[in-house]
Parts: sequence; C-alpha cells; structure tokens
Amino acid sequence: MNADETRTATERAAVATGGCQCGAVRFALYAAPQNVHVCHCRMCQRATGGLFAALAGAARADFAWTRGTPAFFSSSNPARRGFCAQCGTPLSFAYERPEARIYVTIGSLDAAAGVPIVRQYGIESRLPWVQFCDSVPAEATAADAAAAAYLATMQNFQS
Ligand SMILES: [Zn+2]
Ligand SMILES: [Zn+2]
Repeated sequence: MNADETRTATERAAVATGGCQCGAVRFALYAAPQNVHVCHCRMCQRATGGLFAALAGAARADFAWTRGTPAFFSSSNPARRGFCAQCGTPLSFAYERPEARIYVTIGSLDAAAGVPIVRQYGIESRLPWVQFCDSVPAEATAADAAAAAYLATMQNFQS
C-alpha cells in the first residue's frame, strides 16, 4: 500500500464510502468522485469477471482504506487492481504512478445511484449485445497518440 493510501485522511468527512461484500475491507472518498466511467476493455472484463469495469476516481490524497487491507493483483506492469482477499469483491484500479487517480468500483459504493458514469472507455471491446448509456461519450483504448504509445509499452500479466 502506498503511504498516501493510509488512514491519515479518516478525520475528514467522507463524501462517498464503500466496501466489499463481506465487510472486511472498507474505503472512503473525501472529494466528489472524478472521471466516473465504465471500461469495456478485455482486461477489465477479465479482472471483474463482468461485462465491463465500472469505476469512480479520486486523487490519492482524497482516498483512504478505512477498514482492512485489500489484496492486489498487478494486471499489467503499470497497474494494479485491489480486491478483498476474503470474499473476492473487486474494489480498486490504479496505475502505479503516485499522481494517478485511484479508482474504486462503482458497485462497491454504498450509494452508487449518485455516481453516474460520464465516459465509456475501451469501446472497441464492448460486447455486441451490451447496450446501455448510449448517450454517454465513448472512446477506443488507443484513441490518441499518447494512449497508443503507452499501450505499446504495456505488459499484460493476465494469464
Ligand atoms: Zn470482503
Ligand atoms: Zn479497461
């Protein structure tokens, strides 16, 4: 766990809280969720066992694990995904760079209804029979040069 994911923020008033299905791991966001999105990419499908990942972001300084400690799997060299080791609930996604946001799974939030998605990523991998949020802007994984350059260096650690 990075030092900036420690409990030092817990004195602040949480804007959003959530946790895993067994209750062993809890977290809090201390600012309004940012860049709330779904990602249809194949890695997110596999990491969640679902049709897409649904994620809400926070600056590291505005996030804390407030109960327990998640386990992490590095799904690629720059990113790791947190989950409850006791019950398996997918909880987080974050690039290793400290300036990168940490994202939590929308479904693990206590009040997900107030956290609507504003973006869809990985649209090239959206399953053909998944149709929802058609009014939400969507983009492909390597849509711009920076993303394409980044992807060229990425190692996928999923088996
Ligand atoms: Zn759990
Ligand atoms: Zn993805």
